[in-house]
Amino acid sequence: MNGKVFLVGAGPGDPELLTLKAARLLGEADVVLIDDLASDDLLSLCPQARVIHVGKRGGCKSTPQAFIEKLLVHEARTGHKVVRLKGGDPSIFGRAAEEIAALDAAGVDCEIVPGISAGLAAAASIGASLTHRDHAQGVAFLTAHGAEGAQIDWRALARSPLTLVVYMGVSRAGELQSDLLEGGMSADTPIIAVENASHSEARTVATTLREMLSDFARVSLKSPAVIVIGEAMKSRAKALSLASHEREAEHAVFARFASRN
Ligand code: SAH
Repeated sequence: MNGKVFLVGAGPGDPELLTLKAARLLGEADVVLIDDLASDDLLSLCPQARVIHVGKRGGCKSTPQAFIEKLLVHEARTGHKVVRLKGGDPSIFGRAAEEIAALDAAGVDCEIVPGISAGLAAAASIGASLTHRDHAQGVAFLTAHGAEGAQIDWRALARSPLTLVVYMGVSRAGELQSDLLEGGMSADTPIIAVENASHSEARTVATTLREMLSDFARVSLKSPAVIVIGEAMKSRAKALSLASHEREAEHAVFARFASRN
């Protein structure tokens, strides 16, 4: 008898941002395959399960995708209830499409359980709304690190009334800046980057398209971070830069919004 695979969103880090459904499935799982962006703290919810770490962080050695897919199929065919725990939401830059295709091809049942994506957590952590009736009529979730040859039409995005939420953008910040400037985006466009959103060590930097590179370098912004770009960030960017100026005397460049409890 076949088991089933659940592609489960682990949320951005704060265990309280896990859904109740994800918590229940973890408690019922026979096997859990966990990404390195999904917090290990969540493993306390599945003491009964066999846990397999399948880290895939950009630039580092990681478990090959084909191997993960084979493992999912194998475990489900053994009759196991398998939870594939992914950081944030599985359907956003989580290679869920490839895993679903592999499971479909093998005739294995699969279900997605959504999670809170890093971009949503980042906006929440700075008290910002991603849409704004006057400035942002939509949101685009983008990766600065697409598959080889994948082309994003930055010119169209630069002129669109969308808030741009850029994942995997830290090492590509230079290209991102020049593409958006070439695309016609104003150099004064407000930008807020959030590193480790929803974690206790979260850091936030408010800047503009003109100054983003120097500001990111000054604070040595690191992955994982999301870069949120657009007029909807204006009032929060202003509030955050005022806060960081006030703190400059204490050499604190970042405004910290790590925890609201
Ligand atoms: N499926 C995930 C995204 C995976 S891609 C989601 O929905 O959130 C990995 C990228 O996500 C990182 O490079 C970073 O850009 C972003 N990311 C993941 N967790 C993050 C966090 N806690 N804070 C900021 N960015 C994060």
